[in-house]
Amino acid sequence: MPQTPVSSDVSQPTEPPLSGFVVAIDGPSGSGKSSVSKQVARTLRYAYLDTGAMYRALTWWCLEQHVDLDDAAAVTAAAGDFPLEIGTDPDAAHVLVGGVDVGEAIRETRISTTVSKVATVIPVRELLRRLQRELISAAAAEHGGVVVEGRDITTVVAPDASVRILLTASEQARLARRSRELHGDAEATSVSATRSQIVDRDRLDSTVSEFTVAADGVTTVDTSDLDFDGSVAAVLQVVAAART
Ligand code: C5P
Repeated sequence: MPQTPVSSDVSQPTEPPLSGFVVAIDGPSGSGKSSVSKQVARTLRYAYLDTGAMYRALTWWCLEQHVDLDDAAAVTAAAGDFPLEIGTDPDAAHVLVGGVDVGEAIRETRISTTVSKVATVIPVRELLRRLQRELISAAAAEHGGVVVEGRDITTVVAPDASVRILLTASEQARLARRSRELHGDAEATSVSATRSQIVDRDRLDSTVSEFTVAADGVTTVDTSDLDFDGSVAAVLQVVAAART
């Protein structure tokens, strides 16, 4: 995919350090990171930021503006003029674009199957990274802490976070979970229908972010054999250890 060079106003960010207690969680599709991160935020009474929702909302905005997703320059221009409003309450996380509530629309298959095109445009990542750091600092300052989840939070967006976790699960476990979410079961035909969405998206996403192997200082939590409560407890344990 052709890439636009990073323009001079985004290439050399001089940014303030993150403020407050920041829990950064990365992981592939189906690792359970959204539901687990949200529950961890609730338990700790922290704010919650879903950075995947930001990429999804930008994709929705590009489609709304009839931007060709294969045109990196046009996608970058759309990202520079992106009227996003995203909430950080884990119980009422709203996503508005230009005043339109896109909370449900960004979960549609047409977004899931195209979001990686937008997310692999490097200048777009730089713009969203800056925005994400601003949102993280503001939310952490207001709530005492924030749980942020995505693909590059532990490595690029917030390598200076208080706690950094890679939430993983075997491909088999991730496919079964997503299949239950999308099709209501984990039968062979449902798993195979889910496979291309999950595996293809992760393959494309991993060309710009490393979220399969933990970077130095990042703790891996493998949820393959854990249920939801067990996964939440495992993450809370890592957070507690970091606070002592
Ligand atoms: O987490 P979720 O599946 O909603 O993310 C949607 C997409 O957003 C990912 O497939 C990826 O393309 C992009 N993303 C990203 N970096 C993040 C979070 C999400 O590239 N930090």
